[in-house]
Amino acid sequence: MPVTYSESLDAAIQYLQQLKARGVKYLTVSPSTLAALSNGPRPSPPAARPVKAPRAEAPLRESPAKPVAPPASADEGPSIAVLAPRVPSSLSGEAKAAAMSELRERALGCQKCPRLAASRQNVVFGVGDINSPLLFVGEAPGADEDSQGEPFVGQAGQLLTRIIQTMGFPRDTVYIANVLKCRPDTPGQTAGNRKPTPEEMRTCLPYLLAQIDLIQPKIIVALGGTAMEGLFGRVVPITKVRGHFQDFRDIPVMPTYHPSYLLRTQALGVKRQLWEDMLQVLEKLGRPISERQRNYFLSSAQ
Ligand code: SF4
Repeated sequence: MPVTYSESLDAAIQYLQQLKARGVKYLTVSPSTLAALSNGPRPSPPAARPVKAPRAEAPLRESPAKPVAPPASADEGPSIAVLAPRVPSSLSGEAKAAAMSELRERALGCQKCPRLAASRQNVVFGVGDINSPLLFVGEAPGADEDSQGEPFVGQAGQLLTRIIQTMGFPRDTVYIANVLKCRPDTPGQTAGNRKPTPEEMRTCLPYLLAQIDLIQPKIIVALGGTAMEGLFGRVVPITKVRGHFQDFRDIPVMPTYHPSYLLRTQALGVKRQLWEDMLQVLEKLGRPISERQRNYFLSSAQ
């Protein structure tokens, strides 16, 4: 007996729901399949049942992950790529701002991590220009960020602000966010921060993904190995990948050190490495680079 389009669609939806129940979040769909799904059924005999509209979770888009080649001058580096659906944003400026604001409201009331929700002072959603070509991503808020509700406002944040300004951007013209929106709790501790767990980052990641989809930055700078782990879902040795563009949902990601690492080491070589990463970012953005910028941290004068 011939299988109708609607029967195929029902079977596909059922299969996708089974995958979803098993925790599968993303699937790769070939362009031809995607086109066929978008076009709907071919003309079929009149007896065919009415076609159901695909449910929200059914359409799966393909992001053909192409690892971004490092600039010709850079060494070949390790490459990791992420396949995930990306929402093309054709929103007007107003609609984009409204969508971001609605997302923020949802995050502010989020209770998905009960312990973090109970211990937080503020949800640290993100800050900056939602139309910026540049998105900086850190791992999680610390105590200062938790109390002020803004990412990167402590000592490391002040250093990040200096880095951004030295790149030629006022801080409020880029966007800054963390993988985790709530400060990891530190029961029994009166001071200090802790690294977010992989599960916490997985739970919170959809907020960052939605931010990325709305902002559609030209480049993401991932600050530190934990931010990379949160984005890519696996442990990423920062010393191996830093300085080499990676691909995340078709967006080049520059992994680099977390500013707090610079504060801890104070090593000129490490500062220069981070700065070289930022020079690559500027080059990829097509921004002019002054001689002074190019020579930054080549001597201990800076
Ligand atoms: S960390 Fe993220 S997912 Fe967890 S409660 Fe906070 S906003 Fe919600």
